[in-house]
Amino acid sequence: IGYSEHRPTQAIVNLSAIEANIKWQQAKLEPGQSLIAVVKANAYGLGAEQVARTALKAGAEGLAVATVDEGISLRKAGIIQVPILVLGLTDPQGIAEILHYNLTVTVSDLDFFDQAYQQLLTTDDLYLLDNLKLPFHLALDTGMTRIGLRTETEVSDFVTKIQAYDWVDFQGVFTHFSTIGGGPQDYVEYQWQRWLDLTALIPESVKIRHYANSAMGLWQDRQPASTWVRYGVAMYGLDPMDRIPSHFKEQVDTSQLGLNEEDPLQPALELISEIVYVKEIPQGTKISYGATYQSSEKEWIATIPIGYADGWLRSYQVIPVLVEGHACPVVGRINMDQLMIRLPHYYPKGTPVTLIGPDHGAYNHISWIAQQTSTIGYEIMTNLSDRIPRIYI
Ligand code: PLP
Repeated sequence: IGYSEHRPTQAIVNLSAIEANIKWQQAKLEPGQSLIAVVKANAYGLGAEQVARTALKAGAEGLAVATVDEGISLRKAGIIQVPILVLGLTDPQGIAEILHYNLTVTVSDLDFFDQAYQQLLTTDDLYLLDNLKLPFHLALDTGMTRIGLRTETEVSDFVTKIQAYDWVDFQGVFTHFSTIGGGPQDYVEYQWQRWLDLTALIPESVKIRHYANSAMGLWQDRQPASTWVRYGVAMYGLDPMDRIPSHFKEQVDTSQLGLNEEDPLQPALELISEIVYVKEIPQGTKISYGATYQSSEKEWIATIPIGYADGWLRSYQVIPVLVEGHACPVVGRINMDQLMIRLPHYYPKGTPVTLIGPDHGAYNHISWIAQQTSTIGYEIMTNLSDRIPRIYI
C-alpha cells in the first residue's frame, strides 16, 4: 500500500547512466576479472530487478545481495542464469529455499553447514542434494570486524574440516576493506597483508577470490587482482567518498567539496515533484510545526508533496528545492508528507521542482546533499521510501 502514484513526486532512474558507469569500470578490468553488480537493498533504492537486468545487459557477470530474500525475489523475477551471492550471513533454516533458488551463500563458520544439513534431514528435503551441491563463499575478516574468519588457525581448521562436507561447493573467498572509501590509508595496507596471509591457506581449487568494492575497483590496482569487483555505489553514479565528479564543476558549488577528477560517473537517480499549492503570505507569518520560521516580508510560499516518510528527512531542511533553476529554501520544518519552500516570485501550481538532479542549469547532487547533511550518498539513496514510484528512463 506504500506506493503513491496519484502524486507528482517521482524518482527517475536513468538506466543508461547505470550502463555507462558499468562500462567505465569494465574498461579497467584485467582479463579474468568480472564485474558483479551489487543490487542489495533494492539496488540502493533504485529497484533491484530493473537495475539487475540493466547491469547484466551491460556485461555484469553476477549479482550480489544482502539477504536470501533479496536473492529469491530476483530469481522469481526470472533472473536465473547468473550467480547471486548473498553477502550477509544466512539462517540455515532456509537451506531448502537456498538450494531451490540456487543462491550462493556466505559462511563464517562450519556450524552453518551442520545446522543446514540437520534441517534438510528434519524436513525430508535431502533429495535436493541429489543433483547439486551448495555453492558458498567463505568470508575472511581482515579488519572490518564484521563477519568472517580472523586468524590463520581458524582458516586452517575450516579448510581441513570442510573436506568432509561432500555436499558443499567451496567456490570463493572474500573480504571487505573498511577504509578504502575514507579513513586511514595505512589500514588498507594492514588489511591487504591480512588478506594475503589468510588466502595463502585457501586451497588452489577455490578460484574466486575477491576483495574489491567500487572504491577498490576504481582506484586500486593490486596483485593478485580481485577476481570479482563487487560494484555498488559507483554503478549508481556516486563517488564512494562523495566527492563531486569534475564534470559537475559548473553546476555544483564545490568550494567545500573534494572533486573527483578521474571518474566521469553519471548519477542514475533524480527526484522530482511539483508545486501543489501556492500563496502569498504577509510579513510575520509563521510556517510549519513549531512555528520555527516567520516571514520577514511578503513572501510567495509553495507546498511540495514530499516529506520524511518518503525518506526526505527533517535534516534535509538545509537543502534547497530547485524551481526553474532557482535554489528555493525550505521554510520551517519538513513534515511527514509535505514541505514548504520560499519562491523568488509567483509560480503556478503544477510547476515542476527538483530535489535531486538537474534543473535549468542548476544541480542538486546527492553527494553535495550528503555533505550538507552530514551523511553519505548511500544513506540518502537507500532511505527513499517505497511510497515514491520509480520511473525508468
Ligand atoms: N561488498 C560488500 C561486502 C558490501 O557490503 C558492499 C556494500 O556495502 C559492497 C561490496 C559494495 O560497496 P560499494 O557500494 O562501495 O561499491
